[in-house]
Amino acid sequence: MNIKANDPSLKSWVEIPSDSDFPIQNLPFGIFSTDYLEAGAGVAIGNHILDLTYLHENGFLDGLGLPAGVFNQKYLNDFIGLGKQVAREVRGRISELLNVENDELQSQVAARELSLIPMDEAQMHMPIRVPNYTDFYSSEYHAANVGTMFRDEENALFPNWKHLPVGYHGRASSIVASGVDIHRPYGQLKPAEVEKPFFGASKRLDFELEMAFITCKENGLGNPVSLSESDDYIFGFVLFNDWSARDVQVWEYVPLGPFLAKSFASSMSPWIVTADALEPFKVNGPKQDPEVLPYLQYEGSKNYDIDLQVFIQPDNDVANLVCSTNFKHMYWNVNQQLAHQTMNGCNLQVGDMYASGTISGPDEGSFGSMLELAWKGTKPIQLKNGQKRSFLEDGDTVIMKGQCERNGVKIGFGELKNKVLPSKNKDS
Ligand code: MN
Repeated sequence: MNIKANDPSLKSWVEIPSDSDFPIQNLPFGIFSTDYLEAGAGVAIGNHILDLTYLHENGFLDGLGLPAGVFNQKYLNDFIGLGKQVAREVRGRISELLNVENDELQSQVAARELSLIPMDEAQMHMPIRVPNYTDFYSSEYHAANVGTMFRDEENALFPNWKHLPVGYHGRASSIVASGVDIHRPYGQLKPAEVEKPFFGASKRLDFELEMAFITCKENGLGNPVSLSESDDYIFGFVLFNDWSARDVQVWEYVPLGPFLAKSFASSMSPWIVTADALEPFKVNGPKQDPEVLPYLQYEGSKNYDIDLQVFIQPDNDVANLVCSTNFKHMYWNVNQQLAHQTMNGCNLQVGDMYASGTISGPDEGSFGSMLELAWKGTKPIQLKNGQKRSFLEDGDTVIMKGQCERNGVKIGFGELKNKVLPSKNKDS
């Protein structure tokens, strides 16, 4: 697909720092507010946010068929629900307005000043209201690591794993924005060495590095979405942290899967990078063997080459890089996930999140959770301050980042950053 807004030769009149995730080829959507502006939609460009409400109200987006007030809202659901073609035209028009060769906005001093908000004056919010959340389990490296740890290497993957993208329905209400603090959860705990379960603070609090896609179209109950139609439903992507309490999980998950060990919180990065902007960074996925059933078969490049990092920053300390991996390692791609999710007639809603599952790569430094990085607590990670970590401590901030680079263009996701605070529970 040839998308004009992705052209590597495009330059903006807005200054773009060389390390910025947001050149003119990105143009991700988010929800921001300032001391003087209520929450509304914006687009990231360099160190600024372009105020879509202002542009729309002042005629800069005329002719695109946008309903009145579509950007002047706390969430992007109504906008993304207009469909990918509308969003593509809006992104194309913004690309024009920000182009160094276009003076419609550039030459109007007042409009320029009013529509471009410095990021450091803005507060970012949840970009969407999330009706439904599914978490897949689509990294073979991750599934094999966990299987090896809790069973054995020989039977690391369950017999179904290479035939379907395994997943579970997660909790949408506790998905929070970057910047929101995460309180350590309490739960039922039953370490192997004790006879009876007890109630207490999780001692094995973990992150899971994931990407999530957000849907922008409804299929209606009873209508499967075929793999070849699935791109129409996938609006864009965010970084996703599927916070996990391992000691709660190991006791509660049998036989129905994750529950309270996951539902205390998940967090997402503030900018939705469109599937359109990620189009140039598509790559082939791993060969799938055994051959998958027809409804999961696909053609072309469906994986994304996105470099991902996780940092742990202890309280009042420096950030430590603990994981470097890539989204391209996923065994199951997002189109397969969507086709599988809907093949029984399950209905998608606008703003749903479909998370990838923990993204691990082949090497030790590329594992996407503390569980794997410190191998179940047996190989604690060394931090720069001399401390060690097997799991997260109170005061730790977990930072996730992601970028793609090709033909001299680098686009990224910004930061997903949340701090762990002590529990609000009381021992009883
Ligand atoms: Mn997960």
